Amino acid sequence: MLSDQQLLRYSRQIMLPEVEIEGQEAWLNSRVLVVGLGGLGSPAAIYLASAGVGHLVLVDDDHVDLTNLQRQIVHTTERVGESKVASAAQTLGALNPEIRIDQIDRRLGGEALVEQVSRADLVVDCSDNFTTRFALNRACVATGTPLVSGAAIRFDGQISVFDPRVEEAPCYQCLYREGEDENLSCAESGVFAPLVGIIGSMQAAEALKVLAGVGEPLVGRLLLLDGKRMEWRALKLRRDPACPVCSAPRPNQ
Ligand SMILES: [Zn+2]
Repeated sequence: MLSDQQLLRYSRQIMLPEVEIEGQEAWLNSRVLVVGLGGLGSPAAIYLASAGVGHLVLVDDDHVDLTNLQRQIVHTTERVGESKVASAAQTLGALNPEIRIDQIDRRLGGEALVEQVSRADLVVDCSDNFTTRFALNRACVATGTPLVSGAAIRFDGQISVFDPRVEEAPCYQCLYREGEDENLSCAESGVFAPLVGIIGSMQAAEALKVLAGVGEPLVGRLLLLDGKRMEWRALKLRRDPACPVCSAPRPNQ
């Protein structure tokens, strides 16, 4: 049951016929793992919190640096030096004190990662390195957890949703081979500030859609953004029958 305060706070989305009370309750009852509280994680976490996702688990082992503030809008100048999860939790808690926010200020791997993914209803990958992306994808496939994946560098961005619950849907590793890609970082390559805002906001949008069953999420589709021309390209993605992650026989299937 929603309180009067909740009915007011969320009224502008409850009035959407695709959402209504049921959609809002689905969000309030959801637990979402946000990995990375940088350029993508900032807008993603802000919209998930403001829209009323009831339980956010924030993961980041980094601290706020002055060079982050150009694009990582969940942090502030006075929090330079603080852990990113603590800084983000402060912003999100001020925005929506009703939701629960857990902080994990270390890099998750191995069983701890699988454990966190299995407890989440959905994972938003806002990380900046391939090691984490591949590990998250493996954990999501193993536990049947939907994964909203985004990336941004320079003026280029991309986003897709990988949902192992959807038959024949591809996973992240159907697209990329481990070790094949160079690790590009914003520190080395630079990044246009609003680009991470665009992609991170879209990650929140896709996460909310999947959680409440609204519309058609980006499952089996990859959107590529050329920020200089502000042009989108959509690619259809297929499951790779030779994919070592999602085509391998899984336990309990
Ligand atoms: Zn795959």
